[in-house]
Amino acid sequence: MVGSLEKLVEALSRLPTIGQKSAWRLAIHLLERPESEALHLAHTIEEVRKSIKRCEVCFNYTEKEICDLCSSPSRDGSVICVVEKPADLFTIEKAGRYKGLYHVLGGVLSPLNGVTAEKLNLAPLKKRIEQKTPKEIIIALGGSSDSETTAIYLARFLKSQDLRVTRLARGLPVGMELEYVDQITLAQALNERTDLDYGENR
Ligand SMILES: [Zn+2]
Repeated sequence: MVGSLEKLVEALSRLPTIGQKSAWRLAIHLLERPESEALHLAHTIEEVRKSIKRCEVCFNYTEKEICDLCSSPSRDGSVICVVEKPADLFTIEKAGRYKGLYHVLGGVLSPLNGVTAEKLNLAPLKKRIEQKTPKEIIIALGGSSDSETTAIYLARFLKSQDLRVTRLARGLPVGMELEYVDQITLAQALNERTDLDYGENR
């Protein structure tokens, strides 16, 4: 039987960037601090998991039906930036230049891992475009080959719509996830975005 301490270490070691050694350190730290402190952490995690859901419009995290970005009157509804996950949205927001709206895809196409088009938030995106008629869709996916495939797929998927489809400027590090790109590079890539090549002639 696995003891409760080992269970905690195992759970902590599943967190990103936490190896076995760090997991042990964290677990011991939680034991050595006052009980109320550890319970506060447990309670906060529980609370956030229960209260945070996905925005019905853009699939960002929110405590409401519709997130603050989607309901803000100061955001420019004529541009929608398509990102893979909420972490990417936070990165772009932190860069502070973008004033349009977002759409979180919920992943990138990866047939080998079972991520097909049906598993992404594509249908809601199309519906949104039809209802709100934005002028531009910016595809802001990372530099992996799956992201690349998804960008081309998206451009074709949105082709029949009357809008401009752009992507972040080249210059993002190859293979890098958007959330790790520094703010200056990201702001620049957004500023110098280019029209997407549909890949029709290939
Ligand atoms: Zn939203």
